[in-house]
Amino acid sequence: MPQTYDIAVFHGDGIGPEIMRPTLDILNALAAASGGYRLRFTDAPAGAAHYARTGDALPETALALARGADAILLSAMGLPDIRYPDGTEISPQIALRKALTLFAGVRPVTVRAGQRTPLNLPPDREIDFVLIRESTEGLFHTQGRGEVSDTEARETLLITRDISEQLFRFAFDMARSRKEDGRGPGRVTCVDKANVFRAFAFFRGIFDEEAARHPDLTADHAYVDATALWMVTRPWDFDVLVTENMFGDILSDLGAGLMGGLGLAPSADIGADHAVFQPCHGSAPDIAGQGVANPFAMILSAAMMLDWLGTRHGNEALNADARRLRRAVETVVRDSAALTRDLGGTASTQQAAAAVGAALEAV
Ligand code: ATP
Repeated sequence: MPQTYDIAVFHGDGIGPEIMRPTLDILNALAAASGGYRLRFTDAPAGAAHYARTGDALPETALALARGADAILLSAMGLPDIRYPDGTEISPQIALRKALTLFAGVRPVTVRAGQRTPLNLPPDREIDFVLIRESTEGLFHTQGRGEVSDTEARETLLITRDISEQLFRFAFDMARSRKEDGRGPGRVTCVDKANVFRAFAFFRGIFDEEAARHPDLTADHAYVDATALWMVTRPWDFDVLVTENMFGDILSDLGAGLMGGLGLAPSADIGADHAVFQPCHGSAPDIAGQGVANPFAMILSAAMMLDWLGTRHGNEALNADARRLRRAVETVVRDSAALTRDLGGTASTQQAAAAVGAALEAV
């Protein structure tokens, strides 16, 4: 009897349900064909529309479901017109990150041959690196609690040894597994501003301690400003980048830009015990309900979930399907088989997802 994995599903707001539905269909089809695992999806109601109906953006029941699940799949949450009384946006995904201590924000940046990119990539070059953004502290530490007076404003950047150690261990483990998969040379780059801030010298010092535990891998450092430049001039040189929360926030959007937009940018927020998989983009209310949203970032996030589950539970069938799913999306993008409007095509969400389903037969 194959192992069943419980997945908490946040359908979310705006285009969220439109991209989640076909993604679940693909996952169900994969699991049925594999026979090596089963997935049991349970809906977790939350988000801005849920708040408008109930006054609660992330109900205790949804949080409990997320805590009890093997993995969490989330589309997008928040709507510009529905806000808390103090005017701030509703973003339960950030609350989830904090509640479940999801310290590692994983943002893969890949540009394969044939994929549209604003860069003028040499024909023999592809981009394949991972940016890991610390997601629970850094300059987001005082988020919503900054001190503001008429004359000055203050926010606090927090770097802790505990979270930094876990973050760097995670980064080196990822570099090793990418090396084993033939996806990178096994190099981790610590992105910081250690030349200016003592907090980043502390961050870098902890990185160096962790690096010493991995003599089989390469470790180096880069300043964040130089990294932004290199992401544009020689992005193929990177393998695993690890950085502070705010730096990672900014660089991950730059990474999405390299990939031709948000529609192809998946992500994962991973902690010691839990993980949330969701596209980098938001709920895109401007196109919600039209059936034209790009489902690829959601589908690629689901592939990351399969990979994470497979590695965590030692179930190679999951890892194999993660690879197939990634390759299927890459095939559709490379062949421009069924691209949605944001990628220059005319396909609907359903047509784009169906093309991935069809490509899965061939990979
Ligand atoms: P948030 O702050 O919640 O992350 P955002 O302000 O960055 O959201 P998004 O909701 O990500 O905004 O949308 C930004 C733009 O990208 C919009 O024009 C939206 O239509 C477009 N967009 C985002 N996701 C998709 C998608 N999956 N398919 C097509 N277009 C998308």
